[in-house]
Amino acid sequence: MSVIRMNPPEFRVIRDEEKCIKCLVCVRQCGFEAQQYDPEEDRVYSLDENCVACQRCVCLCPTRALRIEQNPVPYKANAHWTPEHIHNINKQADTGGVLLTGMGNDKPYPAYFDRLLLNASQVTNPSIDPLREPMELRTYLGSRPDYLGGEKDRHFGPTPLVPIETPIMFTAISYGAISHQAFEALARAAKAYGTLFNTGEGGLPEDLYEYADHAIVQVASGRFGVHSEYLNAARVIEIKIGQGAKPGIGGHLPGEKITASIAATRMIPEGTDALSPAPHHDIYSIEDLRQLISTLKEATRYTKPVSVKIAAVHNVAAIASGIARAGADIIAIDGFRGGTGAAPLMIRDHVGIPIELAIAAVDQRLREEGIRNRVSLVAAGGFRCSADVVKAIALGADAVYIGTAALVALGCHLCQKCYTGKCSWGIATQDPYKTRRLNPEIGAERLYNLLHGWSHEIKEMLGGMGINSIESLRGNRLHLRGVGLTETELKLLGVKHAGEGM
Ligand code: SF4
Ligand code: SF4
Repeated sequence: MSVIRMNPPEFRVIRDEEKCIKCLVCVRQCGFEAQQYDPEEDRVYSLDENCVACQRCVCLCPTRALRIEQNPVPYKANAHWTPEHIHNINKQADTGGVLLTGMGNDKPYPAYFDRLLLNASQVTNPSIDPLREPMELRTYLGSRPDYLGGEKDRHFGPTPLVPIETPIMFTAISYGAISHQAFEALARAAKAYGTLFNTGEGGLPEDLYEYADHAIVQVASGRFGVHSEYLNAARVIEIKIGQGAKPGIGGHLPGEKITASIAATRMIPEGTDALSPAPHHDIYSIEDLRQLISTLKEATRYTKPVSVKIAAVHNVAAIASGIARAGADIIAIDGFRGGTGAAPLMIRDHVGIPIELAIAAVDQRLREEGIRNRVSLVAAGGFRCSADVVKAIALGADAVYIGTAALVALGCHLCQKCYTGKCSWGIATQDPYKTRRLNPEIGAERLYNLLHGWSHEIKEMLGGMGINSIESLRGNRLHLRGVGLTETELKLLGVKHAGEGM
């Protein structure tokens, strides 16, 4: 066992001693024990090596005495052996373990949303002022008939369309991965705004069934918390096949995070590990998936649309086509920037494809096959602002899921240490001392405000394009232009280059 710390601290805590009043707020609030107090010397000091830059102390210090800086690492410049690679090698040489991380891929891959620009009306087809004229953001999710008066679902009979008041929903985040308070905030905000939240694979806590009418409930490979009441209470049922942050692998919530309440919700013994297998052990083909979709529809008497969530991977268009033909009503596609509570670093950063390319490819394929009407497409994975949402819809999505943005609204500062269970902000933790920091009512208000702000901005962008309904934008790629993209990228996205006319 090495006794030398090979890795220097990633961050430095700078304390202005003249401003510090030794209130010890930072000592109490830091979830990672980076802030310390020595009573003998009556001194507040910092352990830089513990700091993860979650910024809790900086935000709460009453005298603004704290600042956190990236610690400059004095390695000799080397474009190939970056400080990050050296840091990771040392970590693994210390532990022999898989590198873990939280939240989404942070590598500088192209963000196609930043290379797409929206159109605006000028003289003809005048723009619309959303403050003076009606503007429709309501979106209906589900399967549509092939022709007027036709069977809505040719395979298993019709399921109803589900309206949402804005094309933005909260993505799957399980109770267990996040605190009850954070989970409740998402549920409350979804209900208040008329949209949906997603239970993830951890079930729906009994005391939150009042929000079930706004819940998408997941049926994942571990089948945690899945029972008849759960399925029948929900608005939508989602079969989770894959996840953008960790395509192709399962999940693991360690036993120390399985409190009595989480155990009851997941229907597993308290303190035992919750292991989600990588595959569903009853799904090895599209026919198997079709069987599960059919079973869930039968179990809920065709009153719930069934969604299938997959990660955006190389063959995503063909996979989506199979899912649509298997009787799904909604396909949710999670791009490689999707967040998570815990993922192996190598998987998170090196597997999957960007959601922009995936959604364009899937929309195009389903249109070509004449089955686009059979499913709604939900895009997920790294939506940062309302413009990203508008661009995704123009590329072919019906609606989007947001996750990281919602957690940021609740206080998350993207320190990526969710897997430790020590989140100082009371989000990705089950420690009662920390979870109390997040008031679900205040959290819900902040989430509501976020939805409200983004929705209004979407109306402004639509109005600028002379469109008064979000459904008229879906797949309307003529309203997009690419900048700095290759011919292949433009072709895959199905957009023209900036400067080309209609
Ligand atoms: S929170 Fe600020 S004022 Fe209070 S002990 Fe820490 S650095 Fe000093
Ligand atoms: S949820 Fe908490 S632990 Fe996870 S990235 Fe955000 S602040 Fe860090």
